[in-house]
Amino acid sequence: MTTLQHLIHGEACDGGSRRAPVFNPSTGEAIAEVQLADAATVAQAVAAAQAAFPAWRDTPPAKRAQVLFRFKQLLEQHEAEIVPLISREHGKTLEDAAGELKRGIENVEYACAAPELLKGEYSRNAGPAIDAWSDFQPLGVVAGITPFNFPAMVPLWMYPLAIACGNTFILKPSERDPSSTLLIARLLHEAGLPRGVLNVVHGDKEAVDALLAAPEVKAVSFVGSTPIAEYIYAEGSRRGKRVQALGGAKNHAVVLPDADLDNTVSALMGAAYGSCGERCMAISVAVCVGDQAADALIAKLTPQIQALKVGPGTSPGLDMGPLVTRAHLDKVSGYIADGVAAGAELVVDGRGITVPGHEGGFFLGGCLFDRVRPDMRIYKEEIFGPVLCVVRVNSLEEAIALINAHEYGNGTCIFTRDGEAARLFADTVEVGMVGINVPLPVPVAYHSFGGWKRSLFGDLHAYGPDGVRFYTRRKAVTQRWPQRASHEASQFAFPSL
Ligand code: NAD
Repeated sequence: MTTLQHLIHGEACDGGSRRAPVFNPSTGEAIAEVQLADAATVAQAVAAAQAAFPAWRDTPPAKRAQVLFRFKQLLEQHEAEIVPLISREHGKTLEDAAGELKRGIENVEYACAAPELLKGEYSRNAGPAIDAWSDFQPLGVVAGITPFNFPAMVPLWMYPLAIACGNTFILKPSERDPSSTLLIARLLHEAGLPRGVLNVVHGDKEAVDALLAAPEVKAVSFVGSTPIAEYIYAEGSRRGKRVQALGGAKNHAVVLPDADLDNTVSALMGAAYGSCGERCMAISVAVCVGDQAADALIAKLTPQIQALKVGPGTSPGLDMGPLVTRAHLDKVSGYIADGVAAGAELVVDGRGITVPGHEGGFFLGGCLFDRVRPDMRIYKEEIFGPVLCVVRVNSLEEAIALINAHEYGNGTCIFTRDGEAARLFADTVEVGMVGINVPLPVPVAYHSFGGWKRSLFGDLHAYGPDGVRFYTRRKAVTQRWPQRASHEASQFAFPSL
């Protein structure tokens, strides 16, 4: 069985005595084991990143960008290797894995603009013979901690931009599906990245705590569940680090009676069941305005959910693979039982399906609940599985109030032909990312990604322009070169024009 090692100072290395199994969720078998870093291993990575920082900081941004251009080419050339690796350990379909990689590459493309992004701001004659400028300087060593559900894309949200800005980086990927993340990090070294600029340590809480404790680590980007995000934010901030911690979600889609029903159903199918619902932007609640809209939606959704093609993610042409682990399958199944017990109507029950030849896989078919109420656990909590809940309301205002009362505010969308309703929705809904007839409004790489409320802890969103601000600190310089050296009297009043 393969043992996955850390990548420190450009070298594969051992570290820590504990190991965790990595499963193929389509078969239920352990296919690799990953080393779990201890504090000493993390210290080694921190030292490598710290040593690499001065030279990398002083490398011209255009040279840093050249490495990233080569990296982008290598990612494209190695797509056929990366995509099945993602699928094999995560379980998502090959098409979905290819989509994730492409969205990750967009972030590399954005980071290739480093010289443009880091130009700073300049004002000539801010005062008499005074020029003022703002420079955006790197922070030093920064760390990223990423979730299992996008092993390629989410790390690519972070380190390409962080290193483009002149920082050095330590990545702690998810221990559940680390192989594709590791391969991608190796490709960056093949592209010419100097040793120590990017280091990968595998691990769990022990490694994360060691990163949080290291004074050399100046900033932490985290993406994962809300309880851990909250912990990372509190611990990192307490120690004076800059932290952005993106957490969980419960994303609502509002369906107005005038929506194009067929297209709405197609959009909801992909957004609720794609990647087996294991996306932080997955739609998990459909809020139908009026009983007629709800009945019509459910009538069209039901046969399509029943017809979902479920199987091993690595087989082409499927709609849905397995859930990531047995424990997660049990957790999602537990929510379904809970919804039934609470009185929600289980219209489609995906439990108990078997995939011939893959009886040990962690499969669950698509599930649909109707008449879900806001006091139910299946409404309040993030399920992170192929489960769509329909909530019936009487007006758009009621739909917006429902969404605004939820603790999460990651993504949301509305399906309608009414521009006025869409505008009201976009203006007043308290959610960070909004789609109008777009079910998964994941911002492109040159905007930034982030939720509101308990879906993000910190001030800046991930990647894009906010990412540049997160990974740099502003230095404002005010310069004066008087034309003639002459004696100037002291000025005791606060300087102003
Ligand atoms: P998770 O919170 O279990 O793990 C995320 C990372 O934290 C992993 O690297 C893990 O090793 C580490 N970790 C786990 N337990 C820890 C602990 N006790 N102390 C310190 N570190 C710990 O999340 P997951 O199950 O890997 O991913 C799914 C979650 O991530 C969902 O809640 C999903 O909504 C969220 N997510 C959010 C976004 C977003 O952008 N908001 C994107 C993707 C996923």
